[in-house]
Amino acid sequence: MSDQDDASSPLVEGRSCGECHLCCKVFPIPETGKSDDGWCPRLDPATGCRAHGARPAACREFFCTWRYDASLGDEWKPCVAGFVLHDPPPFELLVTEDVDRPDAWRREPYEADFRHWARDIASRQRFVGVRRGERTVLMTKTGEVELK
Ligand code: SF4
Ligand code: SF4
Repeated sequence: MSDQDDASSPLVEGRSCGECHLCCKVFPIPETGKSDDGWCPRLDPATGCRAHGARPAACREFFCTWRYDASLGDEWKPCVAGFVLHDPPPFELLVTEDVDRPDAWRREPYEADFRHWARDIASRQRFVGVRRGERTVLMTKTGEVELK
C-alpha cells in the first residue's frame, strides 16, 4: 500500500517496499470494496498501485512494522516472511497472515521470536496476536488463545 515517497514517519532509512505488495492483499480496504482474501484489483504487480495518486487514506497512511523497525532483518520483510506485522492497539505486534501461506509465522526464526516477545510484553498488558481472516489468536506465555 505504501510508498517511500510518502514517508512522513520515522521509517528505516534506505528500506523500501520494493517488490513487496503484501499489504495490498491481506487487509480489507472498505473504500475499494476489497476483502482481505486476495490481491487488490488496483494492483499491478510490476508497477504497483494503478491508483497511486488517488489511493484511499488507509493505503497512504499504512506502513508495516518492518518499515519502522531496524532491528527486524530482511527475513522479516513481509513478502519474504509470508505475513505482515503491524501494531493496532492492544497489540504490540499483530501478525496478519497471507491466506496462501498459512502458518508461515510458525517457521523459524519467527515463532521463537514471537513467543519470546509475547512473554516479554505481557506484564505491560501488550500482546502479540495472529490474524487469519476473521480469526484472531492471542499468544500467551504458555500457548495460544482464540479471541471470540
Ligand atoms: S488501492 Fe492501491 S495501495 Fe491500496 S490496496 Fe489497492 S493497490 Fe494497494
Ligand atoms: S507490507 Fe510493508 S513492506 Fe510490504 S508493501 Fe506493505 S508497507 Fe511495504
